[in-house]
Amino acid sequence: MAKSTAFLEFSRTDPAKKNVAERLRNFREFEIPLNHTELLHQAARCMDCGVPGCHAFGCPLHNRIPDWNDMVYREKWQRAFLLLQATNNFPEVTGRICPAPCEAACTLSINDKPVTIRHLELQIVEKAWREGWIQPVIAAQKSGKRVAVIGSGPTGLTAAQQLARRGHAITIFEKSDRIGGLLRYGIPDYKLEKWVIDRRLEQLKAEGIRFETGVDAGVDISARYLK
Ligand code: SF4
Repeated sequence: MAKSTAFLEFSRTDPAKKNVAERLRNFREFEIPLNHTELLHQAARCMDCGVPGCHAFGCPLHNRIPDWNDMVYREKWQRAFLLLQATNNFPEVTGRICPAPCEAACTLSINDKPVTIRHLELQIVEKAWREGWIQPVIAAQKSGKRVAVIGSGPTGLTAAQQLARRGHAITIFEKSDRIGGLLRYGIPDYKLEKWVIDRRLEQLKAEGIRFETGVDAGVDISARYLK
């Protein structure tokens, strides 16, 4: 816990939104990120609870939220990012669209407003992209095994990346014409602009993952998929 009295000194501040007149003219994201000082204050509000509801039963990924809050407050952003990616392959997605059950489970929400966990998560990972801390992770050894992943939604992409990093040769089969599943076709741009997916797909491709689009697995069976 970086600053034991911060939750008494600082109130929760949410990111502002672009004004409606501007939002009406496009379909882009409309959240305005908090500035650097405000991010440190928001991270400092975390009490590093003995039983951190955010991590233990709020976050389905069990993200190490109190640890990265502490690192942000201490301005150790790269360390915060390493903690974040330890449990989450695509924080730039969850940081934008997750309904943040971690915040509902935050102890501070009992008699105050919870820590701005989701926004901090997003700012950590976006800083990591800007700083070049996110690079392809190439498996040191190949297993010689091939694995087919059916569907290129968030689950398929995550499974594929984890397996590729274990050295397996991965092919993702996707029925649609583009990769991303629900991320691409189920979420509007004002919540998740599609360049966010494309940026991450470049990393997956560089890690050796192959993509086959327009394949209805189990229905569209041709010899080339059975080799
Ligand atoms: S529950 Fe809230 S205050 Fe407690 S560790 Fe998690 S984010 Fe920090």
